[in-house]
Amino acid sequence: MTHYQTIVIGGGPAGMMATIASASYGQSTLLIEKNKKLGKKLAGTGGGRCNVTNNGTLDDLMAGIPGNGRFLYSVFSQFDNHDIIQFFTDNGVKLKVEDHGRVFPVSDQSRTIIQALENKILELGASIATNCEVVSVTKPEDVFIVKSAENTWTADKLIVTTGGKSYPSTGSTGYGHEIARHFKHSITDLEAAESPLLTDFPHKALQGISLTDVTLSYGKHIITHDLLFTHFGLSGPAALRMSSFVKGGEILSLDLLPTTSSQDLKDFLEEHREKAIKNSLKALLPERLADFLAQGFPEKAKQLTPPQIEELIKKIKEMPIPVTGKMSLAKSFVTKGGVSLKEINPKTLESKLVPGLHFAGEVLDINAHTGGFNITSALCTGWVAGSPHY
Ligand SMILES: Cc1cc2nc3c(=O)[nH]c(=O)nc-3n(C[C@H](O)[C@H](O)[C@H](O)COP(=O)(O)OP(=O)(O)OC[C@H]3O[C@@H](n4cnc5c(N)ncnc54)[C@H](O)[C@@H]3O)c2cc1C
Repeated sequence: MTHYQTIVIGGGPAGMMATIASASYGQSTLLIEKNKKLGKKLAGTGGGRCNVTNNGTLDDLMAGIPGNGRFLYSVFSQFDNHDIIQFFTDNGVKLKVEDHGRVFPVSDQSRTIIQALENKILELGASIATNCEVVSVTKPEDVFIVKSAENTWTADKLIVTTGGKSYPSTGSTGYGHEIARHFKHSITDLEAAESPLLTDFPHKALQGISLTDVTLSYGKHIITHDLLFTHFGLSGPAALRMSSFVKGGEILSLDLLPTTSSQDLKDFLEEHREKAIKNSLKALLPERLADFLAQGFPEKAKQLTPPQIEELIKKIKEMPIPVTGKMSLAKSFVTKGGVSLKEINPKTLESKLVPGLHFAGEVLDINAHTGGFNITSALCTGWVAGSPHY
């Protein structure tokens, strides 16, 4: 039975960074991952390009982490998004910043990020066991006993980084919650967060169209971000963020041109009165959307009656979108809920109930918007959980 000072369960961003921190402090460390490769979920973020962090301010991070972001003040004082950027730069990964502060590798390939993390783990002399599912964790006396089907290890310190319950095909099936329960920790209610929206809408006509910085609103909730029409409804950051405020049965309003006023649109139609409406709208909007909007109106702008002008402008500025529901937890990007933060020391991420037991990443009751905020939370909590605190 091999003994390690630290064992980390789960090779996502939190687990990889926890392993790096632990090993960089000279601790003998083992990272156990049930998939063949590390970072399966991370690889799929940012459309396969890996949205490794967000380069915003601390206030931006707090706004981007609506689910208990304030718990992370102490974590971010030790390791924050700028430290993530520095870490990758120091380890030979060139990064770039895109819209909304989203940070990606210049290579546009997740592999670059995952390889850099894995190389660092190996360079620091830590061990990695992939294709290895942990099936039991106990602490009968002073050390943790960790078992897979074929192996048993012991450790002084255990870091659980098994993720949430979204996209279970990536390996995040909620096993960390079972470990937490075994050690008498409470788990808050698990719910879908950052969920694509199911809508009662003519999807077929618009399927696949993506829009930049449109405004989706429902009551006081007004979100300006990118949006994607899919075969089931709406996805993209604007829809994912709106999913926190709707259940199904609501009617959202979509402003397709939020920086153009209704008066500007009226003037635009007047300027292009001799042209076919669908052709002039193509200057402002994707072609298929322009065709869709022009349907049911006379061909040319000059043929529109004043009520029809108002109707067309309303369709562009206040398109009604009835929401019928949200994707399930398994098909949502993030899990809301997890190991209760009341029982975790915010400075060390150590359990207040079991000495040596630590949690980091999405297994905790922390949820954030896509755009790099969850990954920032995972990498930073991973670093802090892996670091010794004397
Ligand atoms: C499609 C998609 C797109 C996303 N896009 C973004 C984005 O753009 N920006 C953003 O901030 N967030 C995004 N997210 C969320 C983000 O990927 C997660 O919040 C983040 O990966 C959580 O990191 P983690 O290390 O806590 O857990 P995970 O990445 O879930 O890793 C947990 C690991 O633990 C392993 N594991 C579980 N149980 C065991 C066991 N018993 N034994 C051994 N190993 C085990 C799993 O196999 C897994 O590899 C996206 C999520 C999805 C699904």
